[in-house]
Amino acid sequence: IQLNLKDFCGELIEQLQFNAREQYLITFNSPNNINACIDETLMRYILSNLLSNAIKYSPQGGTINVELNCKDETVILRIQDWGIGIPQENQAQLFQPFYRASNARKIQGTGVGLSIVKQCVDLHGGQIAVESELGVGTTFTVTLPVVN
Ligand code: ATP
Ligand code: MG
Repeated sequence: IQLNLKDFCGELIEQLQFNAREQYLITFNSPNNINACIDETLMRYILSNLLSNAIKYSPQGGTINVELNCKDETVILRIQDWGIGIPQENQAQLFQPFYRASNARKIQGTGVGLSIVKQCVDLHGGQIAVESELGVGTTFTVTLPVVN
């Protein structure tokens, strides 16, 4: 079954924006309409976990940018925040279950969200990458092959 990714992500973001009230601003950009054979449940886990992290690790009033693109048979989903960031030395282990970065311990969490995201991405034959600077912000990029 083909999933209309732009509509799907747009609706999920609207819900999360509603839950976050005025405390965060989530922007969504998707230049092309993307249809792909991507499992709805897996996609929901990926986007909702990455977005809830972006919200949780950003100060109130923060902006979060979500971008969805399709290039060369690949879907690219990018979630960018200007929150607490992740120390360089903690970035390699982030996708292991229960792992939490040293600067996140004062904020509640179990450390399983990203390991679930990683498994969902793997099930789709995709990849996930993180770019982050402590005290500046974090960007997670998910790439998924388009199978039609
Ligand atoms: P939960 O299981 O409730 O999601 P969690 O958010 O601590 O708990 P993960 O989502 O797996 O766990 O994230 C792992 C760790 O990665 C976090 O504890 C935090 O240190 C770091 N992290 C993830 N996303 C961000 C982000 N957007 N900004 C800063 N740190 C982040
Ligand atoms: Mg989390």
